[in-house]
Amino acid sequence: MTRITVAKGDGIGPEIMDATLSIIKAAGARIEVDEIEVGEKVYLSGNTSGIAPESWDTIRRNKIFLKAPITTPQGGGYKSLNVTTRKFLGLYSNVRPCMSLFPFVNTKHPVMDVIIVRENEEDLYAGIEHQQTDEVVQCLKLISRPGCERIVRYAFEYARQQNRKKVTCFTKDNIMKQTDGLFHAVFDEIAREYPEIENEHWIIDIGAAKLADTPEAFDVIVMPNLYGDVLSDVAAQIAGSVGLAGSANIGEECAMFEAIHGSAPRRAGQNVANPSGLLQGAIMMLNHIGQSDVAEKVQNAWLSTIEEGVHTYDIYKEGVSSRKVSTSEFAEAVISNLGKKPENLKAVAYSERPKLNLPKYQRKKPALKRLEGVDLFVHWPGENPDDLAAIIQKLDTNGVKLSMITNRGIKVWPDGFSETFCTDHWRCRFKPVSADGINSATIIELLNSALVHGVDVIKTENLYSFDGKPAFSLGQGQ
Ligand code: NAD
Repeated sequence: MTRITVAKGDGIGPEIMDATLSIIKAAGARIEVDEIEVGEKVYLSGNTSGIAPESWDTIRRNKIFLKAPITTPQGGGYKSLNVTTRKFLGLYSNVRPCMSLFPFVNTKHPVMDVIIVRENEEDLYAGIEHQQTDEVVQCLKLISRPGCERIVRYAFEYARQQNRKKVTCFTKDNIMKQTDGLFHAVFDEIAREYPEIENEHWIIDIGAAKLADTPEAFDVIVMPNLYGDVLSDVAAQIAGSVGLAGSANIGEECAMFEAIHGSAPRRAGQNVANPSGLLQGAIMMLNHIGQSDVAEKVQNAWLSTIEEGVHTYDIYKEGVSSRKVSTSEFAEAVISNLGKKPENLKAVAYSERPKLNLPKYQRKKPALKRLEGVDLFVHWPGENPDDLAAIIQKLDTNGVKLSMITNRGIKVWPDGFSETFCTDHWRCRFKPVSADGINSATIIELLNSALVHGVDVIKTENLYSFDGKPAFSLGQGQ
C-alpha cells in the first residue's frame, strides 16, 4: 500500500479526480488517500499561497501527490500554487508525453509520439522581477549548472528506460550565450555518456516550427522551463487535445502528478470534462510507485475505450466516435474494459523497467574567478548618449575607464547610431585601465563617486572571467 496525497482542485477538478480515482481503484491500485484542500477556496479565505501549512505536512510525509487543476485568481497578489509546489518540493523534472491516437482521435499528425522533458524550477520562472526606471522592468533568467545537469541527465535516463532512440535539445543559445549556452553545453557533455542514444540540438524557433509541422521527427525533447511550458501545450494540442495529456513532476524525494490542462471553469459542474489528462498523470504515478502492473492494466483499458469511439465532447467527432459520453460514463467505460488490450492502437507493456540512475549532483572544483570590470546600470532621462558619457566620465574612476554604454543591450556609445531608440535605462561598462585588473573596492569608490555626482545607479553587475574565459556578453554591435 502506498499513501498518496490527493487534491481535487477547482473547476472540473473534482469531477475528473473522482473519475480517475474510481478507475485506478477498480484496477486494483494499492493506494490509500489523504485528501487536502488547495486552490480557490483557500486563496479566497485570505491565504495568498493557496495551501494551508498542515497540507504541506501531508504532502511532505506522503511524498506522492496527485493533483487536479486549480484556479489561480487573477490579480490580488495570489501566487501560483503549481509553481510554488514544484519549487518547494524540488520537482525539477516535468515529463509530458504527447502521443497521437490516430485514427480514433482527430490529428494532423498520425504518427506523433513525443516526450517533452521540461526543466521545472529555473529560468524566467524564478519570478525575480523589478521595475528599475520609469520605462524599464526586468525579469532575471537564472540557469544553473546543477539545474541543467539534473534535467538533461533525467531526459537521457528516461530515454534509456523507455527504449527511446533520440534526445533533442531546444535552446536559443545563438542569442543567450551564457544561459542557454550553459544548457546546450551541459547537454553535449551528458549526451556523450549515452552513446547508444542519438542526440541533436535545434535552435528553439526553427525547432518549434519543425515540431508543429513534423512532430514525428522527434522522440524525447529536453528544454529550459519557459520553452518547455509553451511547447508542451503545443505538442499536446497537435497530438489531439490538451485534455488528453498528463504530466509528472519529479524530484529527488517527492513527485507530483497532474493533467497538463487547467481547471476549465466554464465546463465545471456539468460532468462533461475529459478525465484522460489526469488519468494519464495517475498512470505515470502508478509506474513511479512501482505499481506498473496496475498502470499497464489502466492504460490498455483506456486505449481500448478510446478506440471503441467512446469519447467525451472535446474529442467527439461524427463518423469517428461511436458514443458521446459524460465524465462519469467515460470512467465506467474504462472500468468495464479493465483486462482488455487495444486491438488497433499499440498495447503497452510496462513491467520490467530498469530504474533511472540519477546520482546526486556533485559540485565541481571552483574555477579561477577574476573580476574584469563592472556594468553600472543608470536611470537617466536624457536622450543623447554622448551627454551621458560626458557625465559618467566626470566620475572619479580610479583604475577603471568607461568603455561602452548600451541601451537595451545595443551599443550607443562610442560610435552609436542616431537611429537607435533609447529608453531611460543605460548600461555603462567600466574596464580596468591596466592588466592588474580591479577589486571590489574600485566598484565601491565608483558608486560613491556616482552618488556625489548625482548619477542614479539602479544596479551593478560584476564582470568576471572564469579560468581565463570572459563570462559576460559583449554589447550588441560591439
Ligand atoms: P484550461 O486548460 O483550464 O482550459 C482551456 C479550455 O480547454 C477549456 O475551456 C476547455 O474548453 C478545454 N479543456 C481543458 N481541459 C479540458 C478537459 N479535461 N476536458 C475537456 N475540455 C478541456 O485553461 P484556462 O482556461 O486558461 O485556465 C483556467 C484556470 O486553470 C486558470 O485559473 C489557470 O490559472 C488554471 N490552470 C491551472 C493549471 C494547473 O493546475 N496545473 C494549469 C493551467 C491552468
